[in-house]
This record gives sequence, structure tokens and C-alpha cells, in this order.
Amino acid sequence: AIAHHPTTVAQDLLNRFSKERALVCFPKSAPHPDALEFMKMSLLKQGFIRVVINQQLIHLNTDTFPSPLPSELSVVVDRLTLDAESRSRLVEALESAFRESEGRANIIIGNNQPLAYSAHLACPGCGRTFPTPRPVSFSFNHPLGACPECKGFGNILRYDERLLIPDPDKSLLDGAIEPWTKPSNVWWQKEMLKAFKKKKLDPEAPYNQLTEAERDLIWKGEGTLEGIDDFFKYLESKRYKMHVRVFLSRYRSPSPCTTCQGTRLRPESLMVKIHACHIHEVGGWPLSDLQQWLQTLPLRKFEEAIAKDLLHALHSKLSFLLRVGLDYLTLNREMRTLSGGEAQRIHLATQLGCQLVGTQYVLDE
Ligand SMILES: [Zn+2]
Ligand SMILES: [Zn+2]
Repeated sequence: AIAHHPTTVAQDLLNRFSKERALVCFPKSAPHPDALEFMKMSLLKQGFIRVVINQQLIHLNTDTFPSPLPSELSVVVDRLTLDAESRSRLVEALESAFRESEGRANIIIGNNQPLAYSAHLACPGCGRTFPTPRPVSFSFNHPLGACPECKGFGNILRYDERLLIPDPDKSLLDGAIEPWTKPSNVWWQKEMLKAFKKKKLDPEAPYNQLTEAERDLIWKGEGTLEGIDDFFKYLESKRYKMHVRVFLSRYRSPSPCTTCQGTRLRPESLMVKIHACHIHEVGGWPLSDLQQWLQTLPLRKFEEAIAKDLLHALHSKLSFLLRVGLDYLTLNREMRTLSGGEAQRIHLATQLGCQLVGTQYVLDE
């Protein structure tokens, strides 16, 4: 995806369409037919006198508009020939186009379809737009960065068949469906047993020997008969009760989020790559590899200028961690999984980073 600036659009146009006539326009959604006259007037008042509709140049004062209107029309800001002399005029026209339509410009060359440029991150192929990345886009602790599906936890709690039916050798009658053996829920078990009897199914057959259709009956019910799914749906509606929430949580276990594959980040955040790597990949490398990658990152001159301070800060933080012997750790490693010694050495690395003087540390390792 590319985010454009008037000067980058001008450069692109001059490179691709040198010496051609161009219309610099901005897109505007078509008004309701009743509001058409009002739109014409307000455009004229702002100094725009032409629009392009269906590849046809239309004068706001004299020409009639086609009917029905397409969903979007292009308002002409300027007409010019694309060459070096017109560059500053072109940039100016693009600036006002971006201003009029919140960062969008349409360029029409000859009789072609408008070329769309956007000041927001957008795919030049299909027009899909992306939010502008910000530092918090890369934090799963922030709503702008967290995967919307798992809220940044990396996994989702689902009802787990292994917890619901801990012993599949048991039959329905023996209480294979564990939550239905609780005194307050035996009604569900009884109803299911009645259905089994009516259908001449064997209530004493072990759960793992039931046919798929029989298991389906237990999970999904049938007609007015309610199954395990309905049982949980009913309980979900009583979640406001503390004991129900506690009860439900006993039958759920975490499974990796399929939207973010456990990376905890929004898919758009993982689309942002540096040298073909996204942040979760980089976070999975041992710190020694990470440092080497940072040192050998091929950067263009202006990228180098932007990244200089950041790289310097990263480098010094990493070298403290390496100095205390944590080269094998990864940035994705969760703090709670660190050993006592590792956690202590991370604290030590932080202290070293503070450039504190006159303090003596006593370590018992
Ligand atoms: Zn695309
Ligand atoms: Zn997720």
C-alpha cells in the first residue's frame, strides 16, 4: 500500500505521462437529484466550473447533467500539460484536490478512466485502504493494535468437549455429560434420556460408541428437545450471575485465535514489514540474531535519517541484555515464563541502561 503526497503524485505523473494533457480532479459523491442545483452553485462559488461524469467533461454553467448520475463524479481543479515547467502548478492543483476531498485526487489523462491517488495508505490495485500505522498499532495491549477477535490475548476460550465429557467411556445414563450430573441441571439429562427412550436408542451405550447422529442429538437437540449447545446458550443468558460465570468457565479452555494465529496483533499491523519481516517474526528471534539483523538492515539514506535515533536506542537496550547473557531469549517470550535468574538479569540490564553511578549490586548467582 502507498500513501501519497502531492509531490509524490506529481513525480509519478511526470514520469509516466510526460507531455500529455491531464485533468487534475477530486472525487465527489453524486448528490440526490433534488440537491443537484445546490451542489452546482456551491462548486461554482468555490471557483470550480467543470466536472467529469462518465468520461465526459461537463460545464457547470451551461451543460446539462446526465441522468441518472453515477455514484461519483470528478470535479476539475486544473487542466494542464504534464512537463517540468508545470510541476509547481501541478503540485498546487493536487494540494487543493487533496484538501477538497480528504486526501483523494483523480487524474484523468485523455479519455481514460480516472487514476486515483490517496493521501491515506491505499492499495493502488484495488483501492483497499489501511489505517496509518502508529506506535500503538504494534502493541497488543492497545485496542488499535490488538487483534479484534481475541482482544490481544492470542487465544479464545471455547467450550471444550474434553472438559464436558471427561470420560467418554461413560454412557449418557452414567453421566457422560459432566455438567448435566449437577443437581441443578439433571433436568436436561432426564429430557435427553426420555428422547433416547422414545427413539429406542441405548442410554447405556458408552459416549464414544455412539453414532454421529446420536452425538448430534446430544449436542444440537431436535425440535423442542434441547441439547448441550442450547444448555450453554441458556446459561450464557444468565451470565450476570456470578456462580453461572464460574460454572461456565470450568468447561472452557483456550485455543489459539484463528484470526491472528496467536500473534495477538491486528492483521493490518502484521502487514507492516521491515525488510520483509513483521514485528511478530522479529520478536521470535533470539536477541543475538535480532541484533545482527538490526546491524545489517539495508536502509536508504532518508530511512537511515529517520531510523537513526531509534536504532541507537534499540542497539543499546539489546547490548545490555546480551551483556548479562540473555542472548537466547526472544522478545515474544512472556515475562511470567522466565526463570527467577532470567527475570533478575533483565532487571539488571534495565539498571545498566539507566546509567546510574555509585551503586553497588550484590548478586548471589
Ligand atoms: Zn489490492
Ligand atoms: Zn487474535
